Amino acid sequence: MAVVRVVGAGPAGSFAAMAALEAGAAVEIFEKSPFPRHKVCGEFLSPEVVEMLDRYGLTSPFASLRPARLERMSLFFGDRARTARFPEPAHGLSRHAFDRLLLDQALSRGAQLCREHAQHGHVIATGRKDAAPKGRRLFGFKAHFSGPANDAMELYFLPGYSYVGVSAIENGYTNVCGLAPEPALAGLNFDIDAYVNGHAPLARRLMGLRQSMAWMKTGPLVFGNRLTSDAGNRYLAGDQLSFIDPFTGSGILGALVTGSLAGQAAAMESDPREHLRNCRNRLRPSLRTAAFLRAALTSRWGQTVARYVPPQILFHITRPGI
Ligand SMILES: Cc1cc2nc3c(=O)[nH]c(=O)nc-3n(C[C@H](O)[C@H](O)[C@H](O)COP(=O)(O)OP(=O)(O)OC[C@H]3O[C@@H](n4cnc5c(N)ncnc54)[C@H](O)[C@@H]3O)c2cc1C
Repeated sequence: MAVVRVVGAGPAGSFAAMAALEAGAAVEIFEKSPFPRHKVCGEFLSPEVVEMLDRYGLTSPFASLRPARLERMSLFFGDRARTARFPEPAHGLSRHAFDRLLLDQALSRGAQLCREHAQHGHVIATGRKDAAPKGRRLFGFKAHFSGPANDAMELYFLPGYSYVGVSAIENGYTNVCGLAPEPALAGLNFDIDAYVNGHAPLARRLMGLRQSMAWMKTGPLVFGNRLTSDAGNRYLAGDQLSFIDPFTGSGILGALVTGSLAGQAAAMESDPREHLRNCRNRLRPSLRTAAFLRAALTSRWGQTVARYVPPQILFHITRPGI
């Protein structure tokens, strides 16, 4: 293919661009939003992300941004915490810095950036779809805080289907990001301070921190249990294929893996159905597990049982293949 048009400059789009360039194609990236930009995200980069960055020669530009190193995960169910070490260190880096790094690298390797809303393209990496029936919807929120940071990815599970992640990012900041059902937030007029401070263990955790940006919100969030197929001759990547529940910390990894596959497939003009099969093989086990865990964690018994499951097991069963 002479020119691969990539729509979306998030992690999936930038990785697709780099993969297509590596396969010998010229690349145009279309991005509708001003860049760089903050984005609602836990900003947790799972250990395998480093391996994906390494494949594209990005280890040292990534390290130069001084991402926080995360050695442990702590899961909080009420006052009870379960802590485990990651098999390899994970990292915390703001999406402002991470997405800019990936896009800059794609551009420095020869991709052209078109700052516009695109209707058509070969690689579709436009992020998640937002439609959901009113009332049953979930919304996400995040803000950065300054103050003492630690090396743990902390996840607080709240009653109902809600959780909030607290973990360090670069420059000594801590990211606080969560999601909650619409009725719980609507009852508080979407006042996120009131929501997080209404949960005592989380309120205690945030007490020593100072908020450094206003809460950002996003939604509604709709999770996928299966991959979206596309009738046209296009290669889907990242959240366009499927949006995995954020508690897995696998979304960005999935975007890098499927973006890379989409860029190669587009450059080589291979069958889009083959691309979909490749993505399915990588993602299906973790999507299924995440759907099962979500169903379990929504119920009171599920949260009780989850307290006794070693966190390493929860971590392993939600990893996509790379
Ligand atoms: C609350 C929450 C917390 C999360 N926490 C984590 C976490 O801690 N770790 C993790 O790994 N994942 C996390 N995720 C998931 C992660 O954010 C996504 O999986 C990841 O952003 C997917 O990347 P992407 O490139 O597919 O899409 P995006 O990052 O959404 O990028 C899509 C880009 O396409 C652009 N675009 C859209 N339409 C067009 C168009 N028509 N023309 C041009 N440009 C267009 C958009 O402006 C955007 O920049 C979280 C998600 C949520 C909602």
